[in-house]
Amino acid sequence: YELTHMDIRTVMSDTITLLDAQAILHDITIEASLGEETLWAHGVENQLKQVFINVIKNAIEVMMDGGVIKVTCLLDEIGRIIVRIADRGPGIAHDQLAKIGQPFYTTKEKGTGLGLMVTYKIVDNHHGSIEVSSRIGEGTTFDILLPYHAPRE
Ligand code: ADP
Ligand code: MG
Repeated sequence: YELTHMDIRTVMSDTITLLDAQAILHDITIEASLGEETLWAHGVENQLKQVFINVIKNAIEVMMDGGVIKVTCLLDEIGRIIVRIADRGPGIAHDQLAKIGQPFYTTKEKGTGLGLMVTYKIVDNHHGSIEVSSRIGEGTTFDILLPYHAPRE
């Protein structure tokens, strides 16, 4: 693996291209707003792509009746990159929230419960963090925070 500088918006649009066919099969539209600014991150591009794939796949898998998954990439007020992935799925109960990302925690018949574990590990290795907020019956939002890291001129 190789460390590079990358525009997170490009990594995300590549991810969406990859998952669009699967989304359409589930009657899901992935709506992306990626902004106007280059969102420079530093790390292993394929690993960060895997993070976005894992979270968006989970969103697709819970939106049984189709709908819209909203993806937003932005810089927050203290200069961190935020990648927000919001679904309109069933949500995660408050007492289950602490369990997601633990190895083998799954509520799916054929789940592995490894996707989010890997996701947390990669984001941690990139000095980022993940915040999950969820309301039963309304949906779940994953905020993946990553340091902004522009290449030197
Ligand atoms: P898997 O997808 O194999 O179950 P993950 O680690 O990707 O494993 O996810 C673990 C569990 O977290 C899922 O089984 C599900 O219960 C919960 N989860 C993850 N993402 C969502 C989401 N967007 N909405 C509701 N539950 C979710
Ligand atoms: Mg998964």
